[in-house]
Amino acid sequence: MTYDEWINRTKAGWNKPRSGKLKALDLALKKYLAVPSTERLRALDRALTAWKDSKPDWKTSIRNRDGAVTELTEFVAQKLGYNQIHAPVVQEVLTKSQTLLQNQENSEYQVTAKVKQKQVYQPPWTVKTSVIPWTVNMGFIKRGTVVNVNVRILAKFGNHAVTDEIKRTWKTHIESDWNCATIIEKNRHRDLIFNLIWVEPGDPKPYYEVCVDSPPPKDLTGLSRDEVADYYRESTIHMGKWAWTDRQAVVHEFGHMLGCPDEYFTVEFTGMGHVFDDAIYNQPPFTTNSIMNNTKKQGRLFDRHFNFVRKAYNAWQKCIPAAEIRILRNIGPSEQEETQQWLRANIMSRRQAMGYDDD
Ligand SMILES: [Zn+2]
Repeated sequence: MTYDEWINRTKAGWNKPRSGKLKALDLALKKYLAVPSTERLRALDRALTAWKDSKPDWKTSIRNRDGAVTELTEFVAQKLGYNQIHAPVVQEVLTKSQTLLQNQENSEYQVTAKVKQKQVYQPPWTVKTSVIPWTVNMGFIKRGTVVNVNVRILAKFGNHAVTDEIKRTWKTHIESDWNCATIIEKNRHRDLIFNLIWVEPGDPKPYYEVCVDSPPPKDLTGLSRDEVADYYRESTIHMGKWAWTDRQAVVHEFGHMLGCPDEYFTVEFTGMGHVFDDAIYNQPPFTTNSIMNNTKKQGRLFDRHFNFVRKAYNAWQKCIPAAEIRILRNIGPSEQEETQQWLRANIMSRRQAMGYDDD
């Protein structure tokens, strides 16, 4: 493995910068490969061990997703002439440090809450009363200046195949819309990063289940861009059934998964940490600029959409005074890319200021 291959194979996303320990490992490898020597090999071994010890389970780390760390481990062991006799001792030491780390910041705080909303539809919509209960599930992890909220979803066949491409698109759109807020706790800001994790059947519960559906066939000739988008999102009918063509209504459905009630024809709700207000929740659909009322492109997020998350965070961290969650910038769909860049730059500078290593 060359140095460049190592860097490429261990690269992660923008929000996973290389930690100090990983950078030290990079440098040790670079030096050894440039001019191999026993001294440099030992330094490489130490740097590799130090990075591995900083992980709860380095084998499942994103850096080892295609086995680069395993390969480097084997390479170093071979060069050092390690043999099987050492293995059980090394394993025991590793297991101990793993347990220690798991008990610290890597453990996830799981929130499960039963919520319910009641809607009374008004004309010109078909008049009906609808009571919908569901369970909100999310897992919190605090890492330095970042609070991760993991939301797990199992995508299932509805009348359309589940593909990686569909899952990737949904994840991108949902995360880029929802990752716009900060937690303010005693004048300190923490970035609130939602992470949609696609699970596989048989993975540990709890998780949401979403059926992948396809809108009914239709001739789109002559339709405007907005009309096509409307058609595409209309088959996303509720939290458990998403149209594979949709990237707007899924942001709304994700809001329900984060404990947001609908903001149309809703007359009451329980367990969500929101305060009922007719002016917000009991409006006709598609009449306000909130994503929980309007899944067309003018729908956007407001501070109140983080109420459940804020409540859960405060309960977990026992914050006194209570932490607030504020949207950093109001965004429209056209500004998403710009906002992501801006958020990215902010997270990076804040982390650097704190000397925090992420991964
Ligand atoms: Zn809804």
